[in-house]
Amino acid sequence: MTSRLEDLSPPGALLGAVNAEAIGVEIYGLIAELFPICRSVAGDGVRETLRRMQRAIPLTIHEVPTGTQVFDWTIPREWNIREAYIRNEAGERVVDFRHNNLHVMNYSVAVRATLELAELRKHIFTLPEQPDVIPYRKSYYEPAWGFCMTHRAMLALPEGRYEVVIDASHDDGSLSYGEYLHRGALEDEVLLSAHICHPSLANDNCSGLALLALLGKRISRMQTRYSYRFVFAPTTIGAIAWLARNQHETSRVKHGLVVTCVGDGGGPTYKKSRRGNAFIDRVAAHVLRHAARSPVVLDFSPIGYDERQYGSPGFDLPVGVFQRSLFGTFPEYHTSADNLEFVRPEHLASSYRMIGDILDVLEQDFRPRSTCMHGEPQLGRHGLFERESPGGAGAASNLAMLWVLSGADGQTSLFEIAERADLPFADLLAAARRLQAHGLLEADGAAPIVSA
Ligand code: ZN
Repeated sequence: MTSRLEDLSPPGALLGAVNAEAIGVEIYGLIAELFPICRSVAGDGVRETLRRMQRAIPLTIHEVPTGTQVFDWTIPREWNIREAYIRNEAGERVVDFRHNNLHVMNYSVAVRATLELAELRKHIFTLPEQPDVIPYRKSYYEPAWGFCMTHRAMLALPEGRYEVVIDASHDDGSLSYGEYLHRGALEDEVLLSAHICHPSLANDNCSGLALLALLGKRISRMQTRYSYRFVFAPTTIGAIAWLARNQHETSRVKHGLVVTCVGDGGGPTYKKSRRGNAFIDRVAAHVLRHAARSPVVLDFSPIGYDERQYGSPGFDLPVGVFQRSLFGTFPEYHTSADNLEFVRPEHLASSYRMIGDILDVLEQDFRPRSTCMHGEPQLGRHGLFERESPGGAGAASNLAMLWVLSGADGQTSLFEIAERADLPFADLLAAARRLQAHGLLEADGAAPIVSA
């Protein structure tokens, strides 16, 4: 998908500067479209999801055949499900996959049987502490079958015999993942990744898929410094498959983010890359500190999402995780309560903005050099000095300019100045552009900064 030249945003356009209401609604709309699809580790659900995302982002769909060895793992069979239900003696379906795909343990083997309640209950999963929600369960690597339902509905099942049907198949086929590379001026890449294997769960991770798809759409129409690689893959084995197929190109990845659970109002949470001190770790911490009242920045741990694979010692890619609420800490997590009411357009919009702000630092950072190094320039003479105003905006603008000028030694990057000043990068960038326009600053070292 090539944009017409006049559609391209020029260099310098900011990703974090968006119409929040419009982008929130757009991301939510895509989530609503992806939500009903029954995804799994491999099968038609993932393919269908990728095809729908292709309307926003020009993804290539890659297929890795069943049985392919990827490092220590083997690509599993596809799982495709047609229907599943539990029927009572009166012929009523007391549980039906058509109502909610969480009702079937994901990747269940097929079953067709009639069982006494006591026997059936061994295959039913509920959450007694949250009796009104259906849990999300999967069994990828152990052949098993099961149903998930609300605890309350399970308790209400009378004694008797039940017919259970799971019409599903495990077939040789392939594992699918989606990828899009936007070429920037540099071959150096920013990796943006989201997992695509969960069924009807909105925050985890239709939200990450939809946000990145629409961010990719925007980036595809921009002239960027970095190249951007988007990967949408089933968690763990999908990321491992991508790494195995790109083993010799991953050194181009200079910064990366795994994006998941971005539609709730919690956090924001940033989990550092395994390196712990990568440039992306500093940038994300900086952006979150200025964007939110109580951001959470966590050290790396080997529990979580695909940052574990990207950061594994053989690759050691600087990839952190952006989330709102930390996974596993909100009661809706991995249940039917993680639905379209749980994610909100305004939270999606603020997540988009924060991620955009992080990428803007990567895109816009440079080493400014003052053209007036001996003493400060007289800002008033240049028409830049803002008189004190009631709102204090003038003072803030003066302060930002003074920070930029005092740091503009040609060695220090604008981001380093922002960190030291403890002022938002975007404010210093605006000040730097003003100073540049007045001939007081050179974009010396405009050689991009790729401090991975
Ligand atoms: Zn999950």
